[in-house]
Amino acid sequence: KVSGSEWPGDHAPSVDLRTDVPHSARMYDYYLGGKDNFAADREAAEKVLQIFPDVAVGARANRRFLGRAVRFAAGMGIRQYVDIGTGIPTAENTHEVAQSVASDSRVVYVDNDPIVLTHARALLAGTPEGRTAYLDADFRDHERILSAPETSALIDFKQPVALLTVALLHFIPDADDPGAILEHYKAAMPPGSVMIFSHATTDLVDDSEESRAVVRAYTGAGVGLTPRSRDRITEFFAGWDLVEPGVVPVTEWRPDGNPDDAALKASQAGAFGGVAIKP
Ligand code: SAH
Repeated sequence: KVSGSEWPGDHAPSVDLRTDVPHSARMYDYYLGGKDNFAADREAAEKVLQIFPDVAVGARANRRFLGRAVRFAAGMGIRQYVDIGTGIPTAENTHEVAQSVASDSRVVYVDNDPIVLTHARALLAGTPEGRTAYLDADFRDHERILSAPETSALIDFKQPVALLTVALLHFIPDADDPGAILEHYKAAMPPGSVMIFSHATTDLVDDSEESRAVVRAYTGAGVGLTPRSRDRITEFFAGWDLVEPGVVPVTEWRPDGNPDDAALKASQAGAFGGVAIKP
């Protein structure tokens, strides 16, 4: 039961949302102007905004990057996507963008935040010929994500796949070795597959004290944040071919003429993005 608009079960699961503590997905939702956030999330997000007001425009720029990169992958002929760190559904979710190009596109969404799970129904309504599934799982659990029945039902690992880690890996600390985890996903994908990624960075701001303060604000709220340098982010995709223009501020990755991107300075984007193809 992974297709169509039905909840995979009779009713939405009851989950403990822990509304008393901030969650990264709900802080991001607040930056995007969404309504799926609680007082603790808003308070934590406001602390970050006080230090780095551009985080809100940066979040929107990241979301536009996701749309352009998925459109690019769809244009390459990719029809199957694994979107890890999906986020709370908003405008232009991955399956909507992909299915607007090719209606038979299939997407497996993965997130480990219970609030995203409660909204998964919105992600499961796609075109009749395309299919989507939602997996409540942690990026670090690559074995489960790659072999889950939901994944097997939708993804044929003999055909090119797009793996999305958009605004995700900065939530995986060095202690968990995100690069090593990513290698498991890279190995599972056939040649011609695509990685679409964005990642928070401190390279783009001049004031390093400011970025340290942002990290402290997240950490103080119980949400670990690990911004990384352009070199470290690029290393994650080693062995794959970066498409032009490479690893760049998200606003500068194949802009489509949206004036909101043109108006932003790289420092306001706060994140690098890119697309890499498996040779
Ligand atoms: N990819 C979306 C949302 C980014 S917000 C976008 O770019 O617009 C980051 C998301 O990653 C949140 O929804 C958060 O819950 C999720 N996340 C954080 N750590 C995760 C982990 N270890 N495994 C799976 N999802 C994770």
